[in-house]
Amino acid sequence: MHSFIPPARFFPYLTWNEVQAMPDKENVVIIQPVGAIEQHGPHLPLIVDAAIAVGVLGKALESLDADIPAYALPTLYYGKSNEHWHFPGTITLSTETLTATIMEVGESIYRAGFRKFVLMNAHGGQPQVMQMAARDLHVKYSDFLVFPLFVWRVPNITKDLLTPKEATQGMHAGDAETSIMLAILPELVQLDKAVAEYPPEQTESSLISWEGKLPVSWVTRDISKSGVIGDATTASQEKGSRILESVANGWVQVIRDIYAFQLPQPS
Ligand SMILES: [Zn+2]
Repeated sequence: MHSFIPPARFFPYLTWNEVQAMPDKENVVIIQPVGAIEQHGPHLPLIVDAAIAVGVLGKALESLDADIPAYALPTLYYGKSNEHWHFPGTITLSTETLTATIMEVGESIYRAGFRKFVLMNAHGGQPQVMQMAARDLHVKYSDFLVFPLFVWRVPNITKDLLTPKEATQGMHAGDAETSIMLAILPELVQLDKAVAEYPPEQTESSLISWEGKLPVSWVTRDISKSGVIGDATTASQEKGSRILESVANGWVQVIRDIYAFQLPQPS
């Protein structure tokens, strides 16, 4: 049941007595991987975002210092994916359901005595939900530290391995996601079906972009027929292994930092 997570780091394998007796519980890092079940073009399976979250976390936990207590919760496979729902196979929770789920998992973790809770989200359509739930949990429990993090934001070399166009416009099921899937679940990647499809360019002078500082809200079918937004044809397993290693190392650093992190003492 633990998939890529080292069994000794998989929270549901503990007994309640072990949870109760755990030392230094306020600094133990509890990590909730959050994915999505949504279309990722003709060449990738629906599970991509969940697979990336658990694949990266598993690799990070394998090399994390043994004396840093950190545990993975079961992956939350469903996310908020309604921007993809015109493509069959996509399964989406509403904003309200996903928010409530994160809040209720977080409250259960808090009630068990933990004070550091990480949302490790791999789906680009829901960082805002993570941020708002994290803030609400901290407002409700002032000594609860909740970290709403995006898998790809940790220090890593991915952008250096992509073309400049892919680095800025590859948003979904492109080179990075296809390559890392070739490293995590290669048997599920149908590279012969990979395509390149970029969104229509905006005029140079327009301040509005599909993503970025001044965006417009879109659904995938507005800007892509295949479901791919980017170039999947340049993906390779070699690149994917380097990306996986690098993002996982970034997560090792982040988990160490979270373990050490403290709120300023009220004066
Ligand atoms: Zn994705």
